Amino acid sequence: MKGNLFATIADRITDASRPFLFTQGGAVFSYGDMLDASARYANALASLGVKAGDRVAVQTEKHVDSVWLYLACLRKGAVYLPLNPAYTPAEVAYFVSDAEPALLVCESRSVDTLRAIIGGSSSRIETLDGAGDGSLQTLAKTMPSQFETVDAGADDLAAILYTSGTTGRSKGAMITHENLRSNALALADIWQFTAGDVLLHALPIFHTHGLFVAMNTVMLSGSSMIFMPRFDLEAVMAALPAATTMMGVPTFYTRLLSDARFDRDAASHMRLFVSGSAPLSAETHRAFTARTGHAILERYGMTETNMITSNPHDGERRPGAVGFPLPGVSVRIADPETGKALPEGGIGVIELKGPNVFKGYWRMPEKTAQEFRADGWFITGDLGYIDPDGYVTISGRAKDLIISGGFNVYPAEVENALDALPMIGESAVIGLPHADFGEAVTAVVTARGGSEVDESAVRAQLESALAKFKIPKRVLVKDSLPRNAMGKVQKNALREEYAKLYSI
Ligand code: AMP
Repeated sequence: MKGNLFATIADRITDASRPFLFTQGGAVFSYGDMLDASARYANALASLGVKAGDRVAVQTEKHVDSVWLYLACLRKGAVYLPLNPAYTPAEVAYFVSDAEPALLVCESRSVDTLRAIIGGSSSRIETLDGAGDGSLQTLAKTMPSQFETVDAGADDLAAILYTSGTTGRSKGAMITHENLRSNALALADIWQFTAGDVLLHALPIFHTHGLFVAMNTVMLSGSSMIFMPRFDLEAVMAALPAATTMMGVPTFYTRLLSDARFDRDAASHMRLFVSGSAPLSAETHRAFTARTGHAILERYGMTETNMITSNPHDGERRPGAVGFPLPGVSVRIADPETGKALPEGGIGVIELKGPNVFKGYWRMPEKTAQEFRADGWFITGDLGYIDPDGYVTISGRAKDLIISGGFNVYPAEVENALDALPMIGESAVIGLPHADFGEAVTAVVTARGGSEVDESAVRAQLESALAKFKIPKRVLVKDSLPRNAMGKVQKNALREEYAKLYSI
């Protein structure tokens, strides 16, 4: 039982009457309620024939019962496989055919469509929804509130999370109990979570950030969370006084800053704001500190590895940097082609080793092998460097690197220079096909407040900050940048939209 993440969580519960989860509607669930409900769901899974190692695919909105189901899968040794509720039935059909779950759990409203679509598969289908009367919920209510959590070996899977996969088929990242436990213990420790903490949880729970980073850290430290269905500015402002900590994607923080009510007073009782999953601009970091007196703690990770680096709790939280490797995690910067470690300060691909690194892609041994060096280092595909103080800084995804006229241009550097200009709201820098340069550095920006963005003025202002070859050939203005559910700018969509800009 010791190897099971849930066993570690349960071991650490010292007072079952303490609150675990507050809903926006005012309901409170204690740690004792969590133990009971997860046991009922684990018994329900068993009664449906789900065995250890079976996949349980879940496409629901963010319900409290979805949390119980996640925990029940851990307890039963089943593999939790959360799916973004925005996925279409055709996309769900792919995940079902690939993962072959024993059970698919969905909202009552989509059960007929999904049943028709996955008709031929051997997966059973049950429902779980906000009203609480889905078939799985009804079954769980009849089940005993005791369940003996199964043992799990260090290599046993806790979850499969499909990566968003901008090219080719989505890959299922196999995450073990040990990956999750080692990472959450490290995070709870370095971020100094205690039973007194209340986390404002407005992230989705189909992704590593909201599901693992946020919830596992809360549970391993005995703290509690305010469980919000999504980030809604009004609701977050109303809930903030009861919170001590918040985890978010950068857009949460830019949205808070867009509201004048969010000031030093509104944030004065908070202990910690954490950001990750997408780059937090140095500009936003500084604006946040100026407004609230809090330095956002930025961390870096990915589905395959859980969290990799973090800025310090005590010590300088450096704007634009993602901090130091977590305890037990080794990070190096390597030449993308050869895998040879680069000297300090060189920009290369970020690679790591540690107990947090996943077991591989589900049924894709070749894809898995491509992502590891022969000596075991995992290749993140992110470019970056380590400065003399040991802080890691990300320069962009390797596939977003721009090679213009033979020179490497790292989008993050150009984006930082753009973001520092008073008329720019947000920016994304991409390379587009160009007859002379191969790729032309191109900026897509939004205007800050009511500012006018004059293309030649922007380019002129960048001249003092950037070498000539890094200055965007064009600066295009949009009302907003295309982003996914985790706030990541969809550079592929921009590259497609402007593919013919330089008409070759
Ligand atoms: P995902 O697997 O969806 O969590 O995406 C992981 C990717 O998000 C990483 O490989 C990075 O490219 C990006 N990412 C995560 N955290 C950060 C961060 N703090 N700064 C910049 N990029 C980040």
